[in-house]
Amino acid sequence: MQRINTIYEQPFIIEKNETVIQVSRSFVKMMEYKDSELLNSNIIDLFKTLKVGPNVDINIINEQTEYFLFTKSFEVKLVNIQIIHSVEGKVYVFLEKADLNLEFSFPFANMLYSGNYYGIGIYSAPDKTLLKANEKYISFFDKPYNKKENCIGKNVSEVTTGFKGSTYEEIWSTVLKTGEQYNIDEYMYEGFNKGITYWRLSLVPICEENKIKYCIEMLIDITDQVLHRKKAEEQTKIIKEQQNLLLKREIEKNEMLERAIEMKDEFLSLISHEFRTPLNVINSAIQAMNYMCGNELSGKSKRYLDMIKQNTFRQLRLVNNLLDITRADAGCIKINKKNRDIVFLTKAIIESVHIYASQKEVSVAFVSSLRKKIVGIDDEKYERILLNLLSNAIKFTPKGKAIVVSLYSKKGSIYIEVKDNGIGIPRDKIDIIFERFGQVDSSLSRQAEGTGIGLSLIKKFVEALGGSISVKSKVGKGSIFTVVMPNETVVEEHNEKGMIDLLGNRLIQTTSVEFSDIYL
Ligand code: ADP
Repeated sequence: MQRINTIYEQPFIIEKNETVIQVSRSFVKMMEYKDSELLNSNIIDLFKTLKVGPNVDINIINEQTEYFLFTKSFEVKLVNIQIIHSVEGKVYVFLEKADLNLEFSFPFANMLYSGNYYGIGIYSAPDKTLLKANEKYISFFDKPYNKKENCIGKNVSEVTTGFKGSTYEEIWSTVLKTGEQYNIDEYMYEGFNKGITYWRLSLVPICEENKIKYCIEMLIDITDQVLHRKKAEEQTKIIKEQQNLLLKREIEKNEMLERAIEMKDEFLSLISHEFRTPLNVINSAIQAMNYMCGNELSGKSKRYLDMIKQNTFRQLRLVNNLLDITRADAGCIKINKKNRDIVFLTKAIIESVHIYASQKEVSVAFVSSLRKKIVGIDDEKYERILLNLLSNAIKFTPKGKAIVVSLYSKKGSIYIEVKDNGIGIPRDKIDIIFERFGQVDSSLSRQAEGTGIGLSLIKKFVEALGGSISVKSKVGKGSIFTVVMPNETVVEEHNEKGMIDLLGNRLIQTTSVEFSDIYL
């Protein structure tokens, strides 16, 4: 009794035959129960009501151990329990320790706790009993554990739906095993009744005397954010898939188109070949007729023969151009560069067109700043380029006007300019004339004959020779076509003699074909 007097002020209860027979005033005050609620109850039941833990056995209470119990309003109390055996019975003295560290020792943590922005739960360890939790934290639990009275004092596995076997259980085990805090920015939990949820989670162990005594968990529910992001990602994925599908279709379409173009080119080349053979026969027959019975023919017959000849040349020109452009499109332009005097070559080509120019009453002058210039050039292709430019210039230049061809070297290149004083090319048409079938006037009533292949073909020739072609033009004033060629020689495999003669014959034939479009 003596000792009871000395601890009179302390919270205590006295039990006899397992029944609570006395409760101190301070105990009643501390636990917020009424005397009547505690007196006469079974001591084991009372310990259960007060949720005394961890794992308390009233027969083996250790005075050094720190126990927890909960007030009527589920506030945790940390106590040491002292046992005194007196005449009145077994006395349990509850010596209250300072409250949980978090609330009183760390003001910042306390502010976080009461701020209710983070869900904060404090568990005892290693038994994982939820000792304290703010409203936010409790609201995360499924029903009925989202109420203080149903979760405080209970084990995490009981209050967290789906805990057993979950990755959340693994996190707990890891923290308790390693003693290190666990932080995760985006943790997916599937256990709750509402389905998949996402969390920013920190589980921090608190040690005392090298033992983990508590675990503090900080939680933010980021489910809405993550779902929103995932939805956006899903939408982006769908858009990307749609774009890829469109691209795939576009590629397929292009491939089909390319195949169709290839087939068309093959067809064109086949047809052109088929056209060329009879045209050559007709040509040879006309030549033979002129040669063998030229004298017997009347003037009228000769004129008709000339008409046939010119039109076979026109056909031949079209057929040749078609064949060349399909070859060029397939990347099969054969270039055969030889070292030639480009000044001489240019002059020869211009001379070959004089007859056509004079008949159309157009003059063609040649101006060169160089007397001789040997460069590596494919003379056949060069002829075609210059003849095409000249035939266009003559075609689109009215009577009495002049055409000037200039040749000069500048910055390591050779420049050939064909300048006319003709009808000119409108600004919006300037780009299309180098395209296949590109004509300024494609109506049947146009000023001159043609198919619009010439420039696109010679552009390919110029580029295959390592040069470039451009045009400047003003409607009503005239046009200047400029061809720029590399100023360099080539190493020839073998020097062919008599080339000039051969060139001469071919030039006449090529000119006749190239100029067959012009009706004089
Ligand atoms: P075509 O066989 O029709 O002459 P080209 O490809 O050689 O084909 O020329 C394409 C078009 O460019 C011509 O139809 C014409 O409209 C225009 N063009 C070419 N050269 C000239 C020029 N010197 N003056 C005016 N227009 C020209």
